[in-house]
Amino acid sequence: MEVLFITINYPRSGQESRKHSLRLQPEVNGLLGMVTRSTFGEIIGSGTFSLQQQLMHLSDRDIAGHNAKLSTMVNDNVIVIPQSLMHILDNLGVSPRSPIICNSEDEDYRIWCQDSKGKFSTKSAFESIRRTRPKVSWYKNIWNNFIHPRTAATGWKLLHGCAATDDRIQKSGIPLVSACRLCKSAEENLTHLLWECSFSTQLWTWLAAGFLIQQPLPGFKEAILLSNSWSPMMKQIWNSGVVAAMVSLWNMRNKVYFESKVPNLMNCKQFVRAQIVCTHHRSKACNGNNNWERLVLTNWAVTPRPKQAPQLKTCVWIPPEPNIMKLNIDGAVFGSPGPSGIGICSRFEGEFIFTFAKD
Ligand SMILES: [Zn+2]
Repeated sequence: MEVLFITINYPRSGQESRKHSLRLQPEVNGLLGMVTRSTFGEIIGSGTFSLQQQLMHLSDRDIAGHNAKLSTMVNDNVIVIPQSLMHILDNLGVSPRSPIICNSEDEDYRIWCQDSKGKFSTKSAFESIRRTRPKVSWYKNIWNNFIHPRTAATGWKLLHGCAATDDRIQKSGIPLVSACRLCKSAEENLTHLLWECSFSTQLWTWLAAGFLIQQPLPGFKEAILLSNSWSPMMKQIWNSGVVAAMVSLWNMRNKVYFESKVPNLMNCKQFVRAQIVCTHHRSKACNGNNNWERLVLTNWAVTPRPKQAPQLKTCVWIPPEPNIMKLNIDGAVFGSPGPSGIGICSRFEGEFIFTFAKD
């Protein structure tokens, strides 16, 4: 049996990914992958574990810059290991050029813990090694089934401050004269660009007017809160309009900056309108039935989708036969794998006999 060692790096999501790729490269985490093959060349097992695992005694510095991919190392059953990785393996006393016998007396076993379906997948590997962070309260206002994914992705970055505005470039030590590309009368930062700029406020006022709202919109969370008591469809098209307005402002800024275009409010409005129509097509949410909603939906050329009356179904319950004990059993699981519980309730001739519950 032959054991091959392969390192792979995994991407990180969102802002952190950018940080790591630009500045914190030496801290990129790695995995040591192990593929076991029979003498006939068939892959019979694979496993991955962190390079920083105590077993390997490797620090972030040791693995800095080693980001060889499996696809680049395995070619027609020939393993080509980069020199930098060879150096690490040499230091560990491992010689991947010749067959490696880890411990010939022990049974082979898989190090990789499979997913709940018993399969290895890139998704399950990523899930097990990615750093999870607390969920933000507004994530469903971005990641949902009614906002187009491309718009949502840009909106997510903007809400995480992940935009190369002048103030961020200055903070990274690059001197430049800052000017908002849309109004040219203030320094550029994301809050100004999206919410305070005279160009942006025109767009927000237009969006709010489309929903017959008079009050100013100082920020994303305040804007979303306005729709708290609205019907599902109204909530969704408002949510979509707010995200689309932010994205359209950012896109317009980039067009002015990189393509020397003149700021064009009409383009932004068209984008927002198109996103609202797109949301209406993607969503199945229903609207209420009042004058305000009818006016707003007409404004946005969206067809009303009134809530359907609930269908009444007849239900019958047949009691168990005499001398039959009835057991009601149910279980629930949160996540997969995750905490789970089971409950049992037993009745005999209408009386409780016993109940049982376990986590
Ligand atoms: Zn401005």
